[in-house]
Amino acid sequence: MGNEDCVFCQIIDKKISSDIIFEDNDVFAFKDINPQAPSHILIVPKKHIPRLSQVEKKDEAVLGKMITIANNIAKENHFEEKGFRLTLNEGKDAGQTIFHIHLHLLAGRRLMWPPG
Ligand code: AMP
Ligand code: ZN
Repeated sequence: MGNEDCVFCQIIDKKISSDIIFEDNDVFAFKDINPQAPSHILIVPKKHIPRLSQVEKKDEAVLGKMITIANNIAKENHFEEKGFRLTLNEGKDAGQTIFHIHLHLLAGRRLMWPPG
């Protein structure tokens, strides 16, 4: 059971529908509802971790797994041919709006650097 007030916990529990890309016991991946690139996928831990600054030592394994899964999704979609980006927004200045930690996987267009 996830956090009732958290949109991503509701998505993981399938109380809110999403376009699911991947799921296992620890990690869930789905399409972003407001895509910022032709491909925009969110990779989240099933555990409700609110933000990067609250990650604990015991979360190391699931965070590593999120990166591995993001990379697998990128490979399956051949994103590495042109490149892709993983982003993790922490806090107000970085634009974090959902306080359940998530990796953004962005691909399918030239991504600007530095980001806005
Ligand atoms: P952030 O600004 O890093 O917290 O990213 C939150 C992301 O969640 C944004 O890109 C939103 O478009 C996305 N988002 C919010 N609600 C949903 C939803 N119900 N389904 C899919 N993506 C969502
Ligand atoms: Zn949550």
